[in-house]
Amino acid sequence: MEIYIHIPFCGSRCCYCSFYSTVTPQASEIRTDYAKTAAKELCNRRSEANGTVETIYFGGGTPSQMPLQCIQLLIDTIRSNYHVSRNAEITLECNPEDMTPEFIGALHAMGFNRLSIGIQSFDDNILRFLNRRHDARRAIEAVNTARAIGFDNISIDLMFGIPGQTETILKQDLEVATSLPATHLSSYCLSYEKGTSMHAMLQNGKIQETDEDTLNRYYDIICEQCDKTGFKQYETSNFARSTFRSRHNSGYWDGTPYIGIGASAHSYDGKRTRRWNVSNLMQYIANEGNEYELETLNDDELFDEFVMLGLRQTQGIDLNKMSEKFGASKTAECLKEAEKFSANDWLKQEGHFIHVTHEGMKRLDFITAHLLS
Ligand code: SF4
Repeated sequence: MEIYIHIPFCGSRCCYCSFYSTVTPQASEIRTDYAKTAAKELCNRRSEANGTVETIYFGGGTPSQMPLQCIQLLIDTIRSNYHVSRNAEITLECNPEDMTPEFIGALHAMGFNRLSIGIQSFDDNILRFLNRRHDARRAIEAVNTARAIGFDNISIDLMFGIPGQTETILKQDLEVATSLPATHLSSYCLSYEKGTSMHAMLQNGKIQETDEDTLNRYYDIICEQCDKTGFKQYETSNFARSTFRSRHNSGYWDGTPYIGIGASAHSYDGKRTRRWNVSNLMQYIANEGNEYELETLNDDELFDEFVMLGLRQTQGIDLNKMSEKFGASKTAECLKEAEKFSANDWLKQEGHFIHVTHEGMKRLDFITAHLLS
């Protein structure tokens, strides 16, 4: 099983972001109150633990904005209330600007063994446009410092399809990223989420969306550069060197149960129940982590999720597992639908898996929509 801790604080708001987070001073008491409430929630929910904890993930927001003593409190609380595997993957998402040698060293000493660094681009004009706090120099320094301190599992987030990001800039971003001592790369296409200032700029005609042909070309460039530099694709947006796939995210895609702690965090029991914590920081603290909603997934919803998550991964959908979970006739129906896409080489069956090809990945939403129940 897995534990996710949501840290809803950021140093500033990036103009494209729709994640739940707030900007408060780093030393603010709210952050300490939040950590204490999250620690309480961890204690209260320990009976939900379904076996050994294999991965722990601090996501956000910007977890590196949390004071170190708050991170220590949460890690200690997990260790004293849950059975954590000796080789658990323990990740913290960081902003390069927060990654001083002291901060990284302290994380290493606490037992973190993976850092996920939100870089997005190595072009300073693009970073300013996105309202990121760091510049390219800080980002490069952060990765190198983390490696020098002893982190051998470092992930970099990049973004493509950003207004102003030319093919040349994207290639430079990839060249820098793949030359650093990183072991994992996540490369997401910019999406215009309602309520963000990026979305407002689009509505007001101040910026234009990158067209689909260009996005497809960019996707080709990303996959080629990753392949050339030893980053093997294992999911539509994720690439890993050697054995450094994200075990935590792979758990989400495989239906592993997880306990999500903190404001707006989701949980899943590995069967039919999902839980959503309240998406309001002050309410979360006031109600001591006890305000949430539950949802029970029906058979169709479970099937759709299985298909959606399977297709995102390069290994694809395990047909044996599908039959076992949803029956032979449902699997046959799905395969019949999949045949349409095999004809134009967007989907392939290999052994007891069907998987989306590189060309298919560019049309993933379209293909997925046809295979749902
Ligand atoms: S992208 Fe990350 S750092 Fe930027 S506002 Fe969103 S959560 Fe905060």
